[in-house]
Amino acid sequence: MIDKFVSKRALKVESYKAESMFKGVALDKNEIPWDLDDKVKEALIERLRSAGFNRYPDSSCTELKKALARYTGVDDGCIAVGNGSDELISVLLQTFIDPGDTIAVLNPTFSMYKIAGTICGGKVWEFDLDSGFKLNTREFISGLKRQNPRLTILCNPNNPTGGCIEAGEIEEILKEAPGIVIVDEAYYEFSGVTASGLLPEHENLIVMRTFSKALGMAGLRLGYMLASPEIIGYFDRIRSPFNVNTFTQTAAIEVLKNTGLVEERVEVIKRERERLASRLSELEGIRCFESRSNFLLIRVPEAGKVFSKLRADGVLVRSYSDPVLRDCLRVTVGSSEENDRFYETLKEVLYEGA
Ligand code: PMP
Repeated sequence: MIDKFVSKRALKVESYKAESMFKGVALDKNEIPWDLDDKVKEALIERLRSAGFNRYPDSSCTELKKALARYTGVDDGCIAVGNGSDELISVLLQTFIDPGDTIAVLNPTFSMYKIAGTICGGKVWEFDLDSGFKLNTREFISGLKRQNPRLTILCNPNNPTGGCIEAGEIEEILKEAPGIVIVDEAYYEFSGVTASGLLPEHENLIVMRTFSKALGMAGLRLGYMLASPEIIGYFDRIRSPFNVNTFTQTAAIEVLKNTGLVEERVEVIKRERERLASRLSELEGIRCFESRSNFLLIRVPEAGKVFSKLRADGVLVRSYSDPVLRDCLRVTVGSSEENDRFYETLKEVLYEGA
């Protein structure tokens, strides 16, 4: 009954797949395995005592943007923040896309680009990565010239493949791309690769990041973007006025006072990633793709069954229905114990009865 009132665009959208409150080892959402440090929490609680929750939050996020300017080395007039980078994606698509406009994305990539693009009435053009999930930059650029997209979205490192395009290649793409280019650097702290140095020369560039991964604040929802003041101005016009709440702004300011801890944690995850990747690569029948992020994509026979058996044994990973990711599973790199638990359970599932 309600279907007939739903817009044609909304009917086309497939919902984002996410399982919450899993009771076991959750390695499906690319979170880090540790909560905010006690020292950071104490400082946060202290500040919240006088926060005034009866008042709306600072709509301009003034103090947070100053802290972000120090963290990124980018002027605070070139920074905008949102309720998770998911909100940045939606608002940016609403800002730049008219019905019928083309949005260029890689395939496979993070599914929210297509969801948000479809809601805006955009046409999503997907450029296939090769069989090793690498990008052929030259062919991609010729495709961009043919398709003439209003917006190109690159996820770097790419979710779910983990692969990374080097800054030089991003620059080549930027020089040739006809419209706005968004580089989603949600996993930047793990790769160390950023396009932010290209911002002064390229006013069509937007770099997007999140506090949900290395910075450990997925539950508080905060994303930020770096772009020209003109783009920031349009974004601020379209977003909802109080999009980042007081609690989140305060927490982020405290987290940014302790980035040394973030760096230590990132180093642990990177070491764990390499340890897990080399163990997985030794397993017969498994292909593990190179990752610069905090997750690994593996190709495994009968991935659907492996996923269900892992789940039944208390380990949740990410599975896919998309044909391009046939037989693929994505596993977040967790703590050493979680990674061992995943590895041992996977081995049992794969070779049970052998
Ligand atoms: N971009 C990418 C590439 C992601 O993987 C994710 C989360 N999985 C997001 C954006 C959204 O992150 P946030 O929690 O900031 O909304």
